[in-house]
Amino acid sequence: MQKSALAKSRCGSRHIVLSGLRHSDGQPSQRRATVRFAGLAPFLHRLCHMNATDLRPHLLAFASHPQLPETQALAGTIALAPRRRGPWRAPLAGLGAHEFDGLLLTYFPAAAPLRPLLHIWREQAEAEKRTGMDEFDDLVALLLAHQTTDAPDSRWLAHAIATASMADNHLWQDLGLPSRVELNALMTTRFTSLKLKNVGDMKWKKFFYRQLCEQAEVLICKSPSCANCCDYSICFGPET
Ligand code: SF4
Repeated sequence: MQKSALAKSRCGSRHIVLSGLRHSDGQPSQRRATVRFAGLAPFLHRLCHMNATDLRPHLLAFASHPQLPETQALAGTIALAPRRRGPWRAPLAGLGAHEFDGLLLTYFPAAAPLRPLLHIWREQAEAEKRTGMDEFDDLVALLLAHQTTDAPDSRWLAHAIATASMADNHLWQDLGLPSRVELNALMTTRFTSLKLKNVGDMKWKKFFYRQLCEQAEVLICKSPSCANCCDYSICFGPET
């Protein structure tokens, strides 16, 4: 769906029809999402005039604990879905409708007005083919093997991190976090043993893939030691 989907929304005082949806190849979609509710006129007005990539502040406004890194990472990953490609355009790849509703109710209990749009994103992404060559499932499994707490939101966060890892920027950027500091805090509290393994503070996406390669006994490094490696700046260093 194109970023301009919401900009083409048609507004009413008590309901809104989200129209103008498009598939990633630019073809018009026949899908329509109708949201009916009362008493939210200011939000409706903003929703009618915002870009689809601006959902994050609205999700955070609807959140139970907007200051938590967990909430910010989930909001960022959901909001940045239109910037990802193919099956990764889901709000959180790999979560079905029921589980995604559970996440919304827990972390964004007032976000019911956004639910129809988010489910359209989810359904459209599910219809996209996966190549079978991606490492998404392995990455979710790696994260869950290191979850600090066996709780539903650990699984949601694992899917958020794996989904964001399929995008092109630094992980903290693809999670919509303010900086790598918040990502490190999130990894420390929610995936403690994995954070402890990243002793050199390697860039997180590089670290994940190195872990997966080590599990598969695939040698990806050009040098036996990071200190002597010509790719050191790719794996470590500042992320701006
Ligand atoms: S710096 Fe070189 S040796 Fe170290 S993880 Fe990166 S590629 Fe491998």
